[in-house]
Amino acid sequence: MEDCIFCKIINGDIPSYTVYEDDVVKAFLDISQVTPGHTLVIPKHHVANLFEYDDNLAKEVLSRLPKIARAIQASDPSIVGMNVMNNNGEVAYQSVFHSHWHLIPRYADDDDFS
Ligand code: 5GP
Ligand code: ZN
Repeated sequence: MEDCIFCKIINGDIPSYTVYEDDVVKAFLDISQVTPGHTLVIPKHHVANLFEYDDNLAKEVLSRLPKIARAIQASDPSIVGMNVMNNNGEVAYQSVFHSHWHLIPRYADDDDFS
């Protein structure tokens, strides 16, 4: 997708800090971190949101979330929890229309951001 900022991140046209990458997904730090380590996991195949996933893409992307979550957790012993968030549609606060899964580390002493 030509005008998609996350496709540009996948292609390297926009810089990002990569947390994890393979042939199916890229995980990179969110530019505006809710908590330190806030990571976005995106499929390399452009889909706007959850409504466009087929079974295979769902299996491939979702099955990777636990190990990426564990890798983030392993990077800092003070991470004691994690919120996983996925917004679908403008009304649901989706602002970038390339599907992404927010992994938001939670720390014992962090502030409530809700
Ligand atoms: P949404 O509101 O669609 O669920 O989340 C979009 C997320 O993308 C936001 O948390 C925002 O900070 C992040 N974001 C937007 N543009 C960029 C960018 O160019 N680079 C990175 N790393 N994150 C971005
Ligand atoms: Zn895209």
